[in-house]
Amino acid sequence: MSDEKALLYKQRWDLANVASRGILEVSLEDQRILGFNPAAEALFGLPGHQSVARILAMGFHYSHLLVSEGSSPIDQLIKTGKPEQGIARDMNDQRYFVEASPLTDIDGTTPTALVVLQSGHESAMQKLTKSLLESTLDIKTILDVVLDSMGEIPHKASSIMLTQDHVAQVVRSQGWGEMEGFVSGLQIPIDAPHFRSMEKSGKTLILDDVRLQEGWAPTPELASFGIVNQLSGPIMGKPDAEGKRKCHGFLFLGSDEVGHFTERHAQKLQDMLDIIGATFDNARIFAEIKKLSARDGLTGLYNRRYMEEFLAGEITRASRRKDEPLSAIMIDIDDFKKFNDTHGHAAGDEVLKKIAFILREHIRGGDIACRYGGEELALILPDATGEDANEIAKRIKNKLAETSFSFGDSSTQVTLSMGIATFLKDVNDGKSLINDADLAMYWSKEHGKNNVKVFENDMKIKEK
Ligand code: GH3
Ligand code: MG
Ligand code: MG
Repeated sequence: MSDEKALLYKQRWDLANVASRGILEVSLEDQRILGFNPAAEALFGLPGHQSVARILAMGFHYSHLLVSEGSSPIDQLIKTGKPEQGIARDMNDQRYFVEASPLTDIDGTTPTALVVLQSGHESAMQKLTKSLLESTLDIKTILDVVLDSMGEIPHKASSIMLTQDHVAQVVRSQGWGEMEGFVSGLQIPIDAPHFRSMEKSGKTLILDDVRLQEGWAPTPELASFGIVNQLSGPIMGKPDAEGKRKCHGFLFLGSDEVGHFTERHAQKLQDMLDIIGATFDNARIFAEIKKLSARDGLTGLYNRRYMEEFLAGEITRASRRKDEPLSAIMIDIDDFKKFNDTHGHAAGDEVLKKIAFILREHIRGGDIACRYGGEELALILPDATGEDANEIAKRIKNKLAETSFSFGDSSTQVTLSMGIATFLKDVNDGKSLINDADLAMYWSKEHGKNNVKVFENDMKIKEK
């Protein structure tokens, strides 16, 4: 099983194991029962794990446990490929509402069905568990499911923030109207007391009047939106080996009425967050795995595919906000072919690694360093003006001038040609930004190399 597949599987059973409804996984090939959660065990009155293991080993079929009048939801699902429902009875003549949903695998196939057994009215929690079970490990889908489920608690606006490096960033929001674009992407340092207290206690928190809360609204725009009453909670993972729980982020619900959120709402959110937290553990592990494959093996820099994805996201973000700069630096090693010819390809590889290291040393938290192609490298610098980028490029140039590469008896210098372009209103996609930075880089090449050049408009004309 691939890592991805194993994780998706683990994700589903982590959730199923804490779900309050009976859940079975059934093979669509032969309708064999592949697994069930503790709630299903309890429903069927199965005594302990041994007998569960035996049932699985003996190859129990769905119809051995549940009998429907007419065709079962599983039979129907096999025909339609869609979720199907029905009423069934177990061996003790207990009656259930049964829902069978196709479970999509990583490779897009649906080899199994998720069967959910329900004896009473479906609660919000059960609905949330079911939606999360059916979702993939994709963090974006999970975020949507989570925000949609918040409809259970009346509110005006909601958002989810994920934390990284002591900053919480809004990754999903709903109900902010014209403020939507402003709110998503908003970053707040998590030093504010209400963040700290939630992270420490792992519990939800009601702020009766956010206007009185230190560090709540970092900007006048947010304050003007009119949220006064807030219910929030931390998204905590399961305890690790040392009993520590990772705080993945926070969920916020806001109202424009003081005293709107009650303890009952807080408890409801707490219950939901307990389930959401476990889901985030797995999704985050998955995101980490994905990140690994976004890197180049030799240098550890991001690869071109990742760079293009990242750039597209950053451009959307920058264009949503007024006057938000974004710069790119394209970098090409000078006379690298000659270097390889003189010192060998292995020595060339060492140079690439060392330069990658230097690039990483010179960028900030939100920036990325990439290997664009063979000996072409790139820096994407969100929030950096052309001047900022020029400053960084010059520092890199100086650092390299101080660095000598020794191979055997010989010691040598390496230089770079660099070109800078900055995202402005007339450059509206990632491709043209890179293209402009490339043109500036070629200008450096043509003007003696070992140089930094900022893109100018007439470079385009010269090229044509
Ligand atoms: P210029 O100053 O015009 O950029 O000259 P150059 O020799 O650097 O440029 P050219 O495009 O002619 O050659 C690029 C060289 O980069 C050729 C190739 O062998 C080398 N190169 C590309 N990828 C790697 C790599 O992964 N390892 C090593 N050692 N060399 C590489
Ligand atoms: Mg080149
Ligand atoms: Mg080169």
